[in-house]
Amino acid sequence: MNYPWQQTQWQKVQLQQQADKLPHALLLVGAEGLGKLDFALQLAHSLLCQNQSADGSACGVCSSCKLLEVDTHPDMFTVQAENKGKAIKVDDIRQLSASFTLTSQFGGYKVVVIVDAHDMNINASNSLLKTLEEPVSDSILLLVSSNPQKLPITVRSRCQLIHFTIPEPQQAIKWLEEQGIGQPSELLSLAHGAPLLAMQLKESELLENHRLLIQSLLSVAKGQPLVELAEQLHKLPLNYMLNWLYDWVQDLIKLHQCGSQVDLVHDTHRSELAKLVDRSSIQSLYEYQDQLIKQKQLQSIPLNTQLLWEDLLLSWHKQLKRV
Ligand SMILES: [Zn+2]
Repeated sequence: MNYPWQQTQWQKVQLQQQADKLPHALLLVGAEGLGKLDFALQLAHSLLCQNQSADGSACGVCSSCKLLEVDTHPDMFTVQAENKGKAIKVDDIRQLSASFTLTSQFGGYKVVVIVDAHDMNINASNSLLKTLEEPVSDSILLLVSSNPQKLPITVRSRCQLIHFTIPEPQQAIKWLEEQGIGQPSELLSLAHGAPLLAMQLKESELLENHRLLIQSLLSVAKGQPLVELAEQLHKLPLNYMLNWLYDWVQDLIKLHQCGSQVDLVHDTHRSELAKLVDRSSIQSLYEYQDQLIKQKQLQSIPLNTQLLWEDLLLSWHKQLKRV
C-alpha cells in the first residue's frame, strides 16, 4: 500500500494507466522523507504484475511479483550511484539504454527506476536524454529526485512531473502513531514534516545528536568554554547539524518578528528560546543566519570541522552579547 499522503498521486497514475496514457518518463520530485522511491517501486511492481488488484497495486503472488521480490525480474532495472552522494556515471546509463531496447521478456512493460536522478553527471544525463528523445514502446522511466534543479532542463522537460508534498501534520502524526511511535510531534517538527525522516530520526542516533547540539548552544549561551563542545559536535553528521542550527536561528528570528504564539521547529525549547530572543538583536541573528547559509551552500565538507564548530559557536556567543 502507498503511504496515505500519496493517494492523489497514485490515483492519477492509475487513471493514466487505465486510459493507456501513461507517459514514458515520470519525474518524482519532493523533499526527502516522503517515500518517493517507495512510490516508484510500487508503481514499477504494479506495471509488471500480471494480476493487478482493483486499486492498481501488485498482487504479490504472480510469477512477475515473485521475481520482483527477489530482485531478478528481467524487465525491471534500477540505477543508482555506487555510494550515496557519488555520481551516476555514463556507463551505467549506456548499459541501461542497451537493455531497454531489447524486447520485454514477459511481453509487458520494461521499467527503469533511477534513484536520486540528480546524481547523474553531465555525460550520464546526455546519454539518458537520447533514451528520452527516442522512447521505446512499453517502456517506462521513473526518475526519483529530491533535488530536481540539479537535473538539466532538457531532461526535466521530457518527463511528466509528479510532485510529493509534506502531508498535513495530523495525517503524518496519525501515521507515525500507527507505526508505534509515541508522541511523534517533536520528531515530525525536526524532520520538517517529512514522516519517513521522522521515523529515521527515531531509529537512529540523530535525535541524540540533535540533543547534543541544543545543549551545546545553551551551554555557550551560559558562557561555558566552547572548544570542548566543538570537539563533541565536529564528529556528528554535519549536514543534519547545520540544518538544525539553521532551524534554531530561524526559530529565534520568528519569535523576534512574530511574537510568542508563532509555530517553532524547536517547540519543546520554547521557554529557552524566548530568553535568548531577549539577548539577540534581529540584525545579529540575520548575520548569523547568513553565515550558516554560506556554510550550507558549500558542497564539500571542510577539512577541519573542529575549527568550523569553534567558529560557529563563537559567532553564536558573540551575537548573543550584542543586544
Ligand atoms: Zn503480481
